[in-house]
Amino acid sequence: MGWEMDFQFTKEEDKLRSDVKSFVNEEWDAEGLDLWSFSGPLPYNIDDLYGQELIKGFAKKLAKKGWYTMHWPSEFGGQEAPISTQLAYREEMAYNGAPISVGGGLIAPVLMMYGADWQKEEFIPKLANADVEFAQGFSEPNAGSDLANLQTRAERDGDDYVITGQKIWTSAAHRSDWYHLMARTDPNAPKHRGISYFLIDLKTPGITMRPLMDLAGRRRWSEVFLDGVRVPARNIIGEENRGWYTAMTTLSFERSNIEGPAKLLRALELFIDYATKTKLNGTPIIEDPIIRHSLADMRVRIAMSRTLSYRVAWMQSQGELPVMEASMTKLLNDMMTKYIFWPRMANMLKEYGTLMREDPKAPQEGLFGTNSILSFGSGFGGGTSEIQRNIIAQRGLGLPR
Ligand SMILES: Cc1cc2nc3c(=O)[nH]c(=O)nc-3n(C[C@H](O)[C@H](O)[C@H](O)COP(=O)(O)OP(=O)(O)OC[C@H]3O[C@@H](n4cnc5c(N)ncnc54)[C@H](O)[C@@H]3O)c2cc1C
Repeated sequence: MGWEMDFQFTKEEDKLRSDVKSFVNEEWDAEGLDLWSFSGPLPYNIDDLYGQELIKGFAKKLAKKGWYTMHWPSEFGGQEAPISTQLAYREEMAYNGAPISVGGGLIAPVLMMYGADWQKEEFIPKLANADVEFAQGFSEPNAGSDLANLQTRAERDGDDYVITGQKIWTSAAHRSDWYHLMARTDPNAPKHRGISYFLIDLKTPGITMRPLMDLAGRRRWSEVFLDGVRVPARNIIGEENRGWYTAMTTLSFERSNIEGPAKLLRALELFIDYATKTKLNGTPIIEDPIIRHSLADMRVRIAMSRTLSYRVAWMQSQGELPVMEASMTKLLNDMMTKYIFWPRMANMLKEYGTLMREDPKAPQEGLFGTNSILSFGSGFGGGTSEIQRNIIAQRGLGLPR
């Protein structure tokens, strides 16, 4: 059946786990943020609802510790940590409620592989130290799943390109310094071939933003409008008109999604703790047999998801590119995030189930309520659930397109 997997952590990796746990307990103000970084510290600040400032400060501490770029090649100052070490680290971080814990996001690997010398020199050290933040300008109103349909235009004018168009759903654009953006440089070429990939300073004249709020009413994204934005030609990453392929290389750095099951496990444990201590209509919630079965059911699903994530990591460690398997982990995790918070946990807590953090009666400071509301949005970012199913159908089951 081809389900081979031999995954063992070394003594050093076990030690790393306990170091991570102590570090997070000492250095991360978990009180200040929800476990999921879904909302920022109270009282809310409309422009920092996800606690970006806190996260940035924490990232700097991780950089100092040498963990932030442990996955980077040594020529860029990383440690080339094996996949199993990265997995142990990220799983432990997520379980203990720390925010995004690895450096460079999508842009660092692109620059390492395709960046001009000046781009590497300028940005890699800053990314390594969490001194610069990039937002990702890919999606447009008519280009999401069908990203190659993007219409934002970049026209060459002397030493510059002039960029005009609209992006949407850019996470944290209003808090970022730079934009990595795909725009069409040859409108007559087949749609994947006429796209170039740019680095844009978000302070450049001609860029305006409009906030997009999430279901909990917090600013998470922006619509970004570009009106005659002049960008030096040297800001292209890789070759002109080859931007699609440059950007896709980075998106194909498949992730094992290990943070997902680790966070859900933590949420489940917090739920059990709350349900053990709390009575509904005079009886501890945990004594309800239907709820107990439901919790057991969740535990099984989390174990399934974790095993799939381990499998992706193991395949990567063997030098394989687990495309279908990575889609399976993403799909399962997105489905479980929805299922566990809503309808499961929300229903178990009855009228308290959807109370959010601002409400003094919200169980566990709104952890379950806020996540129930926000879980409706899971299954869109990073490729929708339907797109993951398409990949599994084509690559895994060999079905025709
Ligand atoms: C939390 C989050 C963060 C994000 N951050 C960013 C960001 O920083 N930068 C950025 O550029 N974008 C970002 N996005 C946008 C994200 O990439 C898009 O939402 C995603 O690609 C889907 O595109 P869409 O919203 O246009 O939906 P559409 O592609 O229009 O899809 C609408 C519906 O149609 C279905 N569908 C579409 N095509 C198919 C198909 N071929 N077969 C079956 N069903 C199909 C979809 O599954 C979906 O249900 C973010 C989104 C989220 C939710």
